[in-house]
Amino acid sequence: MVSRTTSDYEALAYAGCKAVNEPAFWAGFDRSSGDGFYDYFRQITEYEPKRAAKFCIDHYCWLCINPKEAEDVGLAREVISIIPNFIPADNVLGIGEIGLNKNSKNELLILEEHIQLAADHDQMILVHTPHLEDKLKGTKLIVDALNNQSKIDPSKVIIDHVEEHTANIVLSNGYWAGMTLYPESKVTHNRAIDMLEMFGDENVWLNSACDWGISDPLSVPKAALEMRRRGYDDEYIDKIVYKNPVKFMSQSGKFKLH
Ligand SMILES: [Zn+2]
Repeated sequence: MVSRTTSDYEALAYAGCKAVNEPAFWAGFDRSSGDGFYDYFRQITEYEPKRAAKFCIDHYCWLCINPKEAEDVGLAREVISIIPNFIPADNVLGIGEIGLNKNSKNELLILEEHIQLAADHDQMILVHTPHLEDKLKGTKLIVDALNNQSKIDPSKVIIDHVEEHTANIVLSNGYWAGMTLYPESKVTHNRAIDMLEMFGDENVWLNSACDWGISDPLSVPKAALEMRRRGYDDEYIDKIVYKNPVKFMSQSGKFKLH
């Protein structure tokens, strides 16, 4: 987790975390060149796994240019052209987090090119849905773009940041739904548990936002504690926070728990 300290890895290890999966994401500023991404991909495929391993945590990642920076089509295509160099790395699970930010034409174009990249290299996909603009419209555009590529297997795609009004669109089309937890904004763990009660426990996972803003790597363990408070049994909690993510990620063939 390039945005976090070693203390965060240590806290995750104490909480029983076995592995993390880190999507390529916005760095808090727009990078100025493809070289910036080349070095970033080296960081998350070479160095970061070693840092996590010091705390007995397996580190996996996803590669892409995130939707925010994808607005610059020239830069995005340069980044897409270097991704195949990194796909063979042991810890790369697929392409992500791709998706939409403001639902713009350029973002959609680059989303489609990323989906093609995943299809060409038989890669799984992790998708980000917009917070800023219309999430419902963005989710529909993303699902359409994925459905239009016949080589994509929906069971190997997770669409993240689902909310009450978008989870059904994702799940009914055969995709996995991810709920990213934040301490106070967007989806909190209480709200996520409410959503699980609405949408069931199949093809869903919870993940902790670990970005440059206010976020908490322990959000998933805290959600597990809240589920326990609500009276869920160990089997249910284990399915949501452990078995489901393992089931999804194991489809990559590279994902192995040590
Ligand atoms: Zn995201």
